[in-house]
Amino acid sequence: MTPARHASATASDPTMIGSGPVSSAAVIRLHDVKKSYGTGAARTPVLRGVSFDVAPGELIALVGQSGSGKSTLLNIVGGLDTADSGTVEVLGLDYHKTTERDLAALRNSSIGFVFQAFNLLDHLTCLGNVILPAAFTRGAVDVEARGREALRRVGLADLAMRHPNELSGGQKQRVAIARALFGSPKLLLCDEPTGNLDSETGREVIEFFRELNEKDGVTLVIVTHERRISSVARRIIAIRDGELVEGEDVALGPGGPS
Ligand code: ADP
Ligand code: MG
Repeated sequence: MTPARHASATASDPTMIGSGPVSSAAVIRLHDVKKSYGTGAARTPVLRGVSFDVAPGELIALVGQSGSGKSTLLNIVGGLDTADSGTVEVLGLDYHKTTERDLAALRNSSIGFVFQAFNLLDHLTCLGNVILPAAFTRGAVDVEARGREALRRVGLADLAMRHPNELSGGQKQRVAIARALFGSPKLLLCDEPTGNLDSETGREVIEFFRELNEKDGVTLVIVTHERRISSVARRIIAIRDGELVEGEDVALGPGGPS
């Protein structure tokens, strides 16, 4: 299949992204993406020409040794970092042809992030953390009700008014997931989401991701060292020496959590 290109869709017109003509096309399209850090002799290539497409509804595990460029790749897909060259197209928006404003609107309306370190603000309540993205969205409506609903979905309705430092690691990660779900994202990008959790709690989080993918059709890309995630993922992509390797035989690298 060759998905049609819809470079004209913009994030300031959310209807174009979700229900418009791009809905059957790829959620992520990367072509020949290159990224290096540093300058001069210290310049180190991290991504050496990465290309891949992700279709709607996929659940992908992204694996590779510590330092191989997994977070770099995920951040480029999420528009948190920029590629040096190549094409990055997410939900119909070509990152190199768009404005910062449209990119921010896409991040807010359609992409959710979950990080290993939860990244919650301790001075806000759980509800406050979940609805924080609304502070950056013009004209957001039903903010509190939607925030409470997001907390209910992760099983934390009762903890809405608690602060993160009163919660266990697993509960914190569920708050972070509720925050990611607050904007009803079509794409969830997770960077080692179970890296700070014990194995039982990690299992629950993975099960939640699987349900989110199967029942709600959310597309997920999960950076992980865990074989358990790799087993629920139907597709596993590895980064090796700055290039992608894909297929059944992709083994998890020996590198520890990064
Ligand atoms: P991973 O997530 O697979 O552990 P990263 O994407 O974090 O790997 O990092 C890939 C390489 O790029 C590493 O060598 C890291 O040191 C380097 N790197 C990542 N971010 C930066 C940055 N902001 N500045 C300089 N080097 C960086
Ligand atoms: Mg990383």
